Amino acid sequence: MKGIVDCHTHVGLADVHVGGELMADLIRCWGKPLWHVPLEQHAADMEAVDRAIVLAFDAPDIGVQVPNEYVAAYVAQHPERFIGFASVDPKRPRAPYILEDAVKRLGLRGLKIAPIYQHFDPNSAKAYALLEAADALKIPVLWHQGTTFVRDAPLIHARPVLLDEVATRFPELRMWVAHLGHPWYEELVATIRKHPHMYADMSALHPRPMQYYFAMMSAVEYGVTDKLFFGTDYPFTTVEGSLQGLRDINRVVEGTGMPRVPEAVIEGIIHRNTLALLGLV
Ligand SMILES: [Zn+2]
Repeated sequence: MKGIVDCHTHVGLADVHVGGELMADLIRCWGKPLWHVPLEQHAADMEAVDRAIVLAFDAPDIGVQVPNEYVAAYVAQHPERFIGFASVDPKRPRAPYILEDAVKRLGLRGLKIAPIYQHFDPNSAKAYALLEAADALKIPVLWHQGTTFVRDAPLIHARPVLLDEVATRFPELRMWVAHLGHPWYEELVATIRKHPHMYADMSALHPRPMQYYFAMMSAVEYGVTDKLFFGTDYPFTTVEGSLQGLRDINRVVEGTGMPRVPEAVIEGIIHRNTLALLGLV
């Protein structure tokens, strides 16, 4: 398929890479261990897109460790399809060096971080040390800057507006925020509008169609829809479901006088030149 990049996909096996608090809360909230992705399954399901970003995840505080080495070995089998991103908990000793090694030795090409899961303040010295390394390596950074169902996850570090100061400090760093910063999409839109190299993905929002519509209309009204990427947050949603959900976004206002998200905006997101904007091609 045809010019589509999924900028947000996970791998990892239940009880091997994903356990602890996160798995307990997945089962508490969803009734099953949703995060269990054999690599063959990921490769098959990602046939629906041309390219996909595959994320490591280093969040030992909540029981998740999808190692950089594991992702690097996987994407190396499919170099024409997949791009691997490292993840480093900024609280680790020598975190900047771990990132540098993941890029230079393992061939990973970006950084995934998540203050709410890794228990750090985005404007702390440890965070800045890691971001300085990303900036020097000229790699993009994906932030989970939004809420979660996980209990042991401080909301105080999760607000999109916290990245305003980060982007001011690192003006050349390519960054994007997952899930339009849900539920704080207005903060997200205000933040990415200010900073030329800040973007967002719309992954995993379509199961909340009302919020999705208002978040997207907010992006339309502030003129930032050209900064939105297509992503799934696989395995939490599928490519097909995410495409359908985006193309159906106006369904909640059918038969009303409410404005519609323009078709050109929808197709623009689906066919975004995401990898070029992130400096990955
Ligand atoms: Zn995700």
